Amino acid sequence: MSTIAAGRSKPSRTTSFVPELVYFEPAALDYPKGRRIMDWVRDSGIPYRMTTSHNRITNLPGETETEQYKIAKRTLVVGIRKTLTFDTSKPSAEYAIPIATGCMGHCHYCYLQTTLGAKPYIRVYVNTDDILKAAKGYIDERAPEITRFEAACTSDPVGLEPITGSLRELIEFMADQPLGRLRFVTKFHTVDSLLDARHNGHTRIRFSVNDKYVINHFEPSTSRFEDRIEAAAKVARAGYPLGFIIAPIIWHDGWQEGYAELLASLAQALPEEALPGLTFELIQHRFTKTAKNVIEKRYPKTKLEMDIAKRKYKWGRWGQGKYVYPDEQAEALRLFISERIFEHFPDANIEYFT
Ligand code: SF4
Repeated sequence: MSTIAAGRSKPSRTTSFVPELVYFEPAALDYPKGRRIMDWVRDSGIPYRMTTSHNRITNLPGETETEQYKIAKRTLVVGIRKTLTFDTSKPSAEYAIPIATGCMGHCHYCYLQTTLGAKPYIRVYVNTDDILKAAKGYIDERAPEITRFEAACTSDPVGLEPITGSLRELIEFMADQPLGRLRFVTKFHTVDSLLDARHNGHTRIRFSVNDKYVINHFEPSTSRFEDRIEAAAKVARAGYPLGFIIAPIIWHDGWQEGYAELLASLAQALPEEALPGLTFELIQHRFTKTAKNVIEKRYPKTKLEMDIAKRKYKWGRWGQGKYVYPDEQAEALRLFISERIFEHFPDANIEYFT
């Protein structure tokens, strides 16, 4: 299998995701990226179909809803991003920059379970120039303030990068923006095609990490912890600002040992280059009632604890509130993990705990 990032074709062991079925919206083929993906799909012998719109994809293979869900997670839709109004993305950035929607990962707790509802297939957008033009508009509007864009709000774009090359385009665009910054987070290790991108220090790459219990029980179909850390070391050596998101932080038997071990292994594995400017973002596990229902249906054997009686209700901005840990537990998690971070990385910056 070859990788086609940024229009180049070079062999890679890092192409971890190969869709089983690809849909193309016809307009996608008016763009070089759409045609490039089509060439790759044909060369790779991947079955594909044309569709007038992703909304019309109703006949995914699979007998049961669960089977269809699994197949949808391995189905790619290549289309155009029509909505060029960006969502806000607090607390990590000002705006979400949309280059893909959906993910091939099977993290039980993932909020895409609910936000994507019945359409969990993976969509990638080929009109990157339109998206970048919109980003420029947002940057100009906020000048002289810096504007940060998060590219991983609705997807894990690193897992898709070998197919689209979109992150590389965003990184090189942002390199030339004195007031623009890019950031994205990933549980995948496919960063090789980004290492020689011109980034000018304007893109922060963060890796989502967790303790062994969480990774082993709740993160199927993502890259192994060791591979994520190896990728983190590579991007640090390539001069990118680096960060880690510990999320979701989960209270479980042995959590203290688990998170202490996580921080110790990070400290052991990271090269010197990773340390200056290193950031951490800490996010405790949360769920909505809707998410709980969906997760229990899709992953009926999950060990993910979602007992409403053990949680605190936190009102949400859009009406639907979330269940988080009670204050005492949340504070114990925050304090313990922060202390471990500063023990191993005294100069790191913890951007937030939420
Ligand atoms: Fe969701 Fe991220 Fe897991 Fe993908 S890798 S399923 S986006 S949590």
